[in-house]
Amino acid sequence: MPDPHHQIPTREKVLIIGAGPAGLAAAAALKALEVPFDLVDRAAHVGGIWDPEREDSPVWPTMEMISSREHTQYEDLLQPVSYPEFLSPGQMAKYLRAYAARHDLTEHFRPRTAVRSARPFEEGVWQVELSTGEIGIYRAVISAHGISERPHLPGWAQEIPSSVQVMHSKDWKGADGLEGKRVLVVGSGQSAADISVDAARRALEVRWSMRTGHWVVPRRVAGIPGDVAASREPSALGGLNQKIAETVIRRTVGDPVAAGLPAPQGGLLEDAVIVSDDVLDRVREGRVTPAGEVTGIAEDGTITHRASGSDTAQQTYAPDVIVLATGYESGADHLPQDVVPRTASGELDLFLGAFARGRDDLVILGQQRVSGGVLPILVEQADIAAYMMAATREGAASDSPALAQFRRVRAGSESAVPAKPASRDGGLLGRLGGVLGAHRVTPRAALTTGDDGAENLVPVADRDTLLARLRSVRGLFA
Ligand SMILES: Cc1cc2nc3c(=O)[nH]c(=O)nc-3n(C[C@H](O)[C@H](O)[C@H](O)COP(=O)(O)OP(=O)(O)OC[C@H]3O[C@@H](n4cnc5c(N)ncnc54)[C@H](O)[C@@H]3O)c2cc1C
Repeated sequence: MPDPHHQIPTREKVLIIGAGPAGLAAAAALKALEVPFDLVDRAAHVGGIWDPEREDSPVWPTMEMISSREHTQYEDLLQPVSYPEFLSPGQMAKYLRAYAARHDLTEHFRPRTAVRSARPFEEGVWQVELSTGEIGIYRAVISAHGISERPHLPGWAQEIPSSVQVMHSKDWKGADGLEGKRVLVVGSGQSAADISVDAARRALEVRWSMRTGHWVVPRRVAGIPGDVAASREPSALGGLNQKIAETVIRRTVGDPVAAGLPAPQGGLLEDAVIVSDDVLDRVREGRVTPAGEVTGIAEDGTITHRASGSDTAQQTYAPDVIVLATGYESGADHLPQDVVPRTASGELDLFLGAFARGRDDLVILGQQRVSGGVLPILVEQADIAAYMMAATREGAASDSPALAQFRRVRAGSESAVPAKPASRDGGLLGRLGGVLGAHRVTPRAALTTGDDGAENLVPVADRDTLLARLRSVRGLFA
C-alpha cells in the first residue's frame, strides 16, 4: 500500500481502523506528535455512526443526542454556538467533518475500505488485509471500530415468524410507514425508550417490553443541560442527595412506577437512567403501553409477555413489527480472539478499557458505554495511545521513562473498566446532573440494556472514574 502523500512505507505507520469520533481523535493526536498513520473506514465519509447518509448507522435523522453540546466536542474545536444544546446526528456529522478538515486528516483517510483482518506476527509487525484485497504490514493498530458492530439479539428472536417484521434497533430509521401498525419495542435502555417515543408518532399501538425498570430523567435540570450542571455544582449535600434527587425527579418528570413502568432496581444515583423528555408523557397518555418481559411467541406471531411490574400476570399481543433494542456485543471481528482475551465476566480485557495488556502496538478505543458525552473519554484514550505510539516508533529513545511507568501501571491494574460507584459526594444539582452526565452504575445494571442477561455485551463504565484514571495516566506522558 504505497502512501500517496508521504511515501512512507506502511510498516513504519500506525493503522487507525474507523474514522468515527474516536478514530478522528487518534488521528489528530498522532498528527500532533508527527507519528505517521493511515486512517481507514468502510464508510464513505468520516464521522462514524453520526453520518446520516449511512444505511448501517444506528442513529436516525430525527433523534436528539442525550449529551449536551458542551460535553460533545473536542477541546480544540468548539461546537458552533448556533447549534442547539442537544445536537441532531446531522449536526454532529458536520462538526466531525469540520474537525477532520481542520487537522488535515482527510489526506490520510481511505474511505470505503474495511479491514478484514489485522493480525500481529510479533510485537510491532501487523499484517492487515483490506476489503480492496490489499495486504499491508503496519507497525501498530489503533482500532476505533465503535461499539455498534455486533447487534445482540435475544434467543427467542429466531422463533419470530416471517409474518412479523423484525429489526434490531441498529436498523431503526424512523416511524414513517408505521401508520396502522402494532409495534413491540423490546429493551430496557435508552434506545428502547427513544424508539418507543418515535414509533408512537405514527403507529396504531406501541408496547414497550422492559425487563428492568429505570429512572427517567430530563435533558435539562433547572434549564441547564444536566451534564453541564453536574460539572459546575460543588459538593454540598452528602448522603441526602439520593432522596432529594429522587424527590426532585418525581416532582418534575414524574415517578416511573406511577406512570406504569417497572420499579427501578436501585436508587436514582446508581441506576442506568434513561434520559428522555417525552417517554413518561407518552406512557401516561397511553400512546406507549408498558409491558414486562417476553415469555413466549406463537407460530402466528402472537407474543406472550408479563404484565408490566408483575411476575405472574401474562398478556398477549400480536405485533406487526418488533424492534429489538437489546444492545450490542463487545468484540472486534477483524482481530484474532487470542490477541485480546476476555475477563471472567466476558468483557475484552483492556487496561482502562482501551489498552491491550502486555503489548504496546494495539489500542482498542471506546469499548464501553457511559452515560452522557463519551467524547472526553475517547480523546483521553486516543492521546495516551498517541504518546505510546510516539514513544515506540523507530528512532525514539528506547528507555522512555513515561512508557516504562505506563507499562508498570498497566501491568499492576486489576479491573478492565471502573464500573463500581465512586464517591457519593456532590451537590444536589451535581447529583442530578451526574445522573445525566456521570452517573454510577453497577455491573448488574450494565446488563439491563441487553435485556436478557446475555454475556459479552458492551460494558457500562463509570464515566467520572474512568475519565479521572485516564487523565492521571495521560499525565505520565504529557
Ligand atoms: C443510538 C445511539 C445514540 C448515542 N447517543 C450518544 C450521545 O448522545 N452522546 C454521546 O456522547 N454518545 C452517544 N452514543 C455513543 C456513540 O457510540 C459515540 O458518540 C461515538 O459515535 C463513538 O465513536 P467511535 O469512533 O468509537 O465509534 P463509531 O462512531 O461507531 O465509529 C466507528 C467506525 O469504525 C468503522 N469500522 C468498524 N469496523 C471497521 C472495519 N473492520 N474496517 C473499517 N472500518 C470499520 C465503522 O464503519 C464506523 O464508521 C450513542 C450511540 C448510539 C448507538
